[in-house]
Amino acid sequence: NGPVLELKNLGVAYGRGAASVQVVHDVSLAVERGEALGIVGESGCGKSQTMLAALGLLPRGGRITSGQVLLEGQDLVGRSPRQMRPVRGREIALISQDALTSLNPAMTIGKQMAEPMIHYGGMSRSAARQRCTELLDLVGIPGAAARLASYPHELSGGMRQRALIAMAISANPKVLIADEPTTALDVTTQSQILRLIDSLRKELGMALILITHDLGVVAGVADRVAVLYAGRVVETAETETLFAAPRHPYTKALLDSIARIEDDVAERLNPIPGLPPDPRNPVSGCAFHPRCEYSREICRNALPILEDGTGAQHPVRCHVDPFVSSSLRAVGGAR
Ligand code: SF4
Ligand code: MG
Repeated sequence: NGPVLELKNLGVAYGRGAASVQVVHDVSLAVERGEALGIVGESGCGKSQTMLAALGLLPRGGRITSGQVLLEGQDLVGRSPRQMRPVRGREIALISQDALTSLNPAMTIGKQMAEPMIHYGGMSRSAARQRCTELLDLVGIPGAAARLASYPHELSGGMRQRALIAMAISANPKVLIADEPTTALDVTTQSQILRLIDSLRKELGMALILITHDLGVVAGVADRVAVLYAGRVVETAETETLFAAPRHPYTKALLDSIARIEDDVAERLNPIPGLPPDPRNPVSGCAFHPRCEYSREICRNALPILEDGTGAQHPVRCHVDPFVSSSLRAVGGAR
């Protein structure tokens, strides 16, 4: 029956003509029903732009330059904001990093949760109230019924994120997109929230797209991972494979930089030297070449294509492919 959400060759740019800046290039991704896909890369690599484009939420000046966004086979690209409104929330829900700014500070949790159920879902006030209590209970907020009367500032960061998750799942979406859902939280709360998202995905049969700069975050949750760099997918693999045998030098560098958690202090090991390129000044050839220790002349001149040369469902965008094992080489022939 195919993927529930599929992006095909998606491109996103800002501005027009000579001032146009391409921030997402030819991104193809797919997620099956109930599956969890991690999208990983440093900030500015196009992760959020890709997902905002898919949801029709690009900020002013942003536009889709190519490709398709297929929800159960139906292309969402070109739909008007009015046509997209019923898709967001009901079909594809988004939770983002900052629960404090995503919630309305002047409205109780109960009111902001119930409003869409009453206005769009046609529920009665008492039925909505009942449903909100169930949802807060489902996301592990203690004393759910009493919490409906709380304002966002009266809840801890973790509880606010739980409330936001409750809202996101309230319409039983087919796809939940979580964009850095734990970045603003302390490490203990982070892992609780991740476990919650993962268990809701299994319980409700949602597909999950988990966007993060930290490969450590996807380890226990994602079935597959796509690594983005400079607006392009550079490697995709099953999570276990990616961790055990990364092929792209950028993925390897991300793995080496995973936060080690000791005494509640997340410490970055071996941060990757240099910065991701500014899309206003695109880098020639492989965009990672200024930071890559395996770079050769071809890397500066030619864009590597994303290819699955080994037939191992593990495509990589690298001319050199320095970590490919000899057994994979044998399967894939001469590289
Ligand atoms: Fe490094 Fe070259 Fe591979 Fe790019 S193509 S990641 S520069 S080895
Ligand atoms: Mg982002």
